Amino acid sequence: MKIVILSRNRSLYSTRRLVEAAEALGHEALVIDHLRCYMNIASHNPQVHYKGKALEQVDAVIPRIGASVTFYGTAVVRQFEMMGVLTLNESVAISRSRDKLRSLQLLARKGIGLPVTGFAHSPDDTEDLINLASGAPLVLKLLEGTQGRGVVLAETRQAAESVIDAFRGLKVHFLAQEFIKEAQGADIRCFVVGDKVVATMMRRAKEGEFRSNLHRGGRAELVKITPEERSTAVRAANIMGLNVAGVDILRSHHGPVVMEVNSSPGLEGIETATGKDVAKLIIEFTQKMFEEKGASPKKNQTRGKG
Ligand code: ADP
Repeated sequence: MKIVILSRNRSLYSTRRLVEAAEALGHEALVIDHLRCYMNIASHNPQVHYKGKALEQVDAVIPRIGASVTFYGTAVVRQFEMMGVLTLNESVAISRSRDKLRSLQLLARKGIGLPVTGFAHSPDDTEDLINLASGAPLVLKLLEGTQGRGVVLAETRQAAESVIDAFRGLKVHFLAQEFIKEAQGADIRCFVVGDKVVATMMRRAKEGEFRSNLHRGGRAELVKITPEERSTAVRAANIMGLNVAGVDILRSHHGPVVMEVNSSPGLEGIETATGKDVAKLIIEFTQKMFEEKGASPKKNQTRGKG
C-alpha cells in the first residue's frame, strides 16, 4: 500500500514510528506536511497537490493533525476523502473530537460517564454555575487549552469566583467541572485501535499537582483496566467516530468518567510505558480496513460530505 502520513514533522517520534512500522510491513510510507498541501476544491477531479505536483495513487491516509492546525488539516483530510482515499480517522471525527463541548455533549447523549460539567461563556450567574459543578473544589477549564494548560483547580468557592471573573474578563468559553478528588491526580490513557483497547497506561501527576499530563511532569505507569473501563473507552472512541483514539479516563466514585477523546494520540509515552508496538497495530489495522473496503467506492463513510 501507499500510505500518506499527514504530519508537520517527520522527526517526531509518532511519525517516525508509523513510517518504520509501515515499511517493516512492506508498505510505502510518505510523510506529507498538511500545511504545505494545496488543492483545487472546485475541480470535478479532486486532487491534493504537494511540492509542485498532484499526489497520486494514495491508498490510505493516516492523519496526525495538531490541535493548532485543525482547521486546515481537516480540510486536507476531507479532500482526500473526496478523492475516495481511505482515511484512518475521518475529518468530521477529528473536528468533532477537537471541540471539547461538542464531544462532551455527544458522549453524554450516549450515556458515557462524565464528570458533572457546566459550561459557560461569560456568565453573570457565577454562583449557580459553581453549584452546577457540585460546588468547590472544582476544576475550571479553558475550552481551547491543551496539555493541561488552562486547567485550574479552584479549592474554594472564592478562588472559583476569582477565576471565573478572570475568564469572564477575557471573554473565553470555559467548563466548570466536578473535581474528581478520588482519582488522586492519576488518569488512565486507553489507546483504542478499531474496537479494541490495545494499550493502557496510568499517568500520575507529580507531587503537589493534580494534572497528570506527561508534559506537566506526570509519570507513566502500567495499569490493568477493568472491563467497564475498557468498554467505556471503546464506546467513547466509537461515538466520536474515531478508529484510532486516546481516551482519557478518571476513576471516580461513580465509575469511569471520560475526560477527553484525542484523535492524534502520541505514541512515545504509551509505547515506552508498555513496550508494545502500537505503531504496528495501527498500520495492520489500516491494512485490514483497506482490504475490507478496497474495492468499494465507499472507502469513507462521509466521502468529504461532512
Ligand atoms: P488537556 O486537554 O489540556 O490535557 P484535561 O481536561 O485533560 O486537559 O485536564 C488535564 C489533567 O487535569 C487531566 O489529565 C487530569 O489529570 C486533570 N483533571 C482534569 N479534569 C479533572 C477533574 N474534573 N477532576 C480531577 N482531575 C482532573
